[in-house]
Amino acid sequence: MTPPIDVDLYSDTITRPTPAMRRAMAEAEVGDEQLLEDPTVNALQQRVAELLGKEAALFLPSGTMANQVSIRVHTRPGDELLAHRTAHPIHFEVGGIAALAGVQVRPLDGPRGQYDAATAEAAIRPGWREMPRSRLLWVEQTSNLGGGSIWPLERVREVTDLARRGGLATHLDGARLLNAVVASGVAARDWAAPFDSAWIDFSKGLGAPIGSCLAGSAAFIDEAWRLKQQMGGAMRQAGIIAAAALYALDHHVDRLADDHANARRLANGLADLPGVRLELDHVETNIVLIELIGSLDAATAMDELRRRGVRMVDLGPRTLRAVTHLDVDAAGIDRAIDVARQVFV
Ligand SMILES: *Cc1c(COP(=O)(O)O)cnc(C)c1O
Repeated sequence: MTPPIDVDLYSDTITRPTPAMRRAMAEAEVGDEQLLEDPTVNALQQRVAELLGKEAALFLPSGTMANQVSIRVHTRPGDELLAHRTAHPIHFEVGGIAALAGVQVRPLDGPRGQYDAATAEAAIRPGWREMPRSRLLWVEQTSNLGGGSIWPLERVREVTDLARRGGLATHLDGARLLNAVVASGVAARDWAAPFDSAWIDFSKGLGAPIGSCLAGSAAFIDEAWRLKQQMGGAMRQAGIIAAAALYALDHHVDRLADDHANARRLANGLADLPGVRLELDHVETNIVLIELIGSLDAATAMDELRRRGVRMVDLGPRTLRAVTHLDVDAAGIDRAIDVARQVFV
């Protein structure tokens, strides 16, 4: 029998709402969200529009829907989207780019989930009649498969300037944007400013059970509303979950620094093992990528960790990912290090 999970580093999505968050949810004022009558949803949308420096915002059930709705507003079938080859919608949204938007992807290369302006420039189509239109440029901040890396602000500005000059719209997948905010000290609105659309996820490091909020111009959000409705994302008394998101914005943002410290603590505890390659200065936020260079493959390592009560995930044959979050403290990290030191040999 598999023992219970003692330290769960699978993802920052596994957090459970705290008692105080649950109280906020229980006490939320609610109304019919589809009629724009849920005061808590309305307050959350207002709050996120301000946070991201945009005219309007829209509460959605997931980050996946925020991405898919955005792609559909910005593009037409046959258009092309430029994104790093590790971008979330390419791998984890069940082909929605193709199935829902009818759009194709130009995957871009570069270390740690980021491409540079020269790479983007070379990929923008020259506008020949037989080519797809380059229509949307995509940045994921922080980069998930890039190990939680933070795109430097200068690079964000370079690639988005280039996109605008080429007539492309720009989208910020900010599932973990607030991790970048806390780690960099750059405000969310400054990160979001060069983008036509940007969103944050409440169900990752912020520790809420459900939801994302997408922001952009009033016209963009009007269109996004229609697609939210069409895709079955319009809700009723959604203030119950919006209250958790508001609670998270009030109480769980600054503490992301603890997750970042715990990720560094974990990395420091593993970096000297002979079976492991781990770049300490690549641990910028709450994700640690562990490359196995000994005899052990990642799937076996994952099983061995799991048998000892620690959960991580294999992202490739030789790569494990560990993610820190609100439900793991420094003592838990130390237990994970002890276990990992038995396994990574
Ligand atoms: C998790 C994630 C998403 C999707 O968000 P869900 O709320 O899980 O649908 C999108 N982009 C990135 C970078 C993510 O990590």
